[in-house]
Amino acid sequence: MHQDCPVCFEYLFESVNDVSVLHCGHTIHKSCLNEMREHFQYACPLCSKSVCDMSKVWEKIDLELAATPMPEPYLNKTVWILCNDCGENSHVQFHLVAQKCLNCKSYNTRQTRG
Ligand SMILES: [Zn+2]
Ligand SMILES: [Zn+2]
Ligand SMILES: [Zn+2]
Repeated sequence: MHQDCPVCFEYLFESVNDVSVLHCGHTIHKSCLNEMREHFQYACPLCSKSVCDMSKVWEKIDLELAATPMPEPYLNKTVWILCNDCGENSHVQFHLVAQKCLNCKSYNTRQTRG
């Protein structure tokens, strides 16, 4: 199997010990995955799914959202989001920090319609 790392584009299986398999099944260097985490990137570069069990991270974002009141003009704003993890669309209240998928509770989402 010849495969390149999606982060650094170097050959992956030089040394199997240095390779991590993500939740989605894609493979990446352990060192590259660590670097992504340091930059708070938790989505697979190939398919945008979360790279690991993110429930602890989502809990932190829950707290952050609760502590960040939305400014007046946004209070009644709602948006459609598409979840990168489960692929479901949700209609949610807009928040400046992040939008939460109603289906799987993931914040790994992107806005589709405002
Ligand atoms: Zn790499
Ligand atoms: Zn992937
Ligand atoms: Zn979801």
